[in-house]
Amino acid sequence: MARVILHIDMDAFFAAIEQLRRPELRGKPVVVGGDGNPHKRGVVSTASYEARAYGIHSAMPLRTAYKRCPDAIFLPVDFAAYHEFSGKLRSMLREYSPLVEPMSLDEAYVDISHRGEDPVELARTIKERTKSELGLTASVGVGPNKLLAKIAANLQKPDGLTVIWEQDVEEKLRDLPATVLWGIGPKTAARLHEALGIQTVGDLRRISLERLQEVLGPNHGEWLYHICRGEDDSPVVTEWEPKSMSRETTFQVDVRRRDTLVRVIRRLGEEVCEDARDEGYLVRTVTLKIRYHNFRTHTRAQTLPEPTADHDLLLQTAVGLLDRFTLDRPVRLVGVRFSNLVRSERGAPSSDGGPAEPAAS
Ligand SMILES: [Mg+2]
Repeated sequence: MARVILHIDMDAFFAAIEQLRRPELRGKPVVVGGDGNPHKRGVVSTASYEARAYGIHSAMPLRTAYKRCPDAIFLPVDFAAYHEFSGKLRSMLREYSPLVEPMSLDEAYVDISHRGEDPVELARTIKERTKSELGLTASVGVGPNKLLAKIAANLQKPDGLTVIWEQDVEEKLRDLPATVLWGIGPKTAARLHEALGIQTVGDLRRISLERLQEVLGPNHGEWLYHICRGEDDSPVVTEWEPKSMSRETTFQVDVRRRDTLVRVIRRLGEEVCEDARDEGYLVRTVTLKIRYHNFRTHTRAQTLPEPTADHDLLLQTAVGLLDRFTLDRPVRLVGVRFSNLVRSERGAPSSDGGPAEPAAS
């Protein structure tokens, strides 16, 4: 069955909520961040579109934002209120599919492959409902996988609805900067530019697999080779997947060092390997989850050619997935999940003879 994925991204979410509940703020530059005092330390969480016109954007120090627009209205972050809106959004999305993967309070993927109706009509309905029921606008991307749905949602904001199907990939991605792709953060982008003169997705597509692997290493190179062609088979991962095993850890102090992350991923991976062995499962899909300091959560998954109990292979896969993240920000949590579990023949309490969850594609 062909996959259809929606990416829902609320527009300037925190600032839009503030403007919704305080009508006098509408049409004005509003900056939400820290405790709302632009003379203290802290960064911008969300800037309203009016504030963005002054060059203010998320993650910018509040002091810089103040310099760019002293007249902006600075407000503290009110997570409780944003959580409430986010909860309403998620319940609405779950009316359309059980497969909803929240990425942050204001963003989620929804797998609607099983539904019969026109996906673009469905996306339009969801947009109308966010307006009428939450009072907020959303930008929605529609595509055959998570990668393309997300790129689509970002192409037109605010209040956009953009579709990228497989046949549109070459034309619609060709002139976009390579950084629209997952796994190309500022460091990788600089590397690709230096070594290969790459700026756009189109440039990237002209580079051979072998050359990309030389520059970025075998895993990352191969992954990018597929990603720049719009190919992505990562599943939409719900938070309560029944047949999966996972371990995660939140750091006491946010971590920036890659070798620390690798060490922790190996330890978590070993623990999940033991769980799988104890319960008699072979594993086919390995997912790595990273939550950054700003609570943005990203997952990357790899499905192996066949279910395995090979600890070395599973750990290597988990660690290899780290290359698909942009590690330019401190990390507060990492998690390793095994799914697509199959009862092993030997010593299994019972055998169901097949994958424990439907395949992702
Ligand atoms: Mg958003």
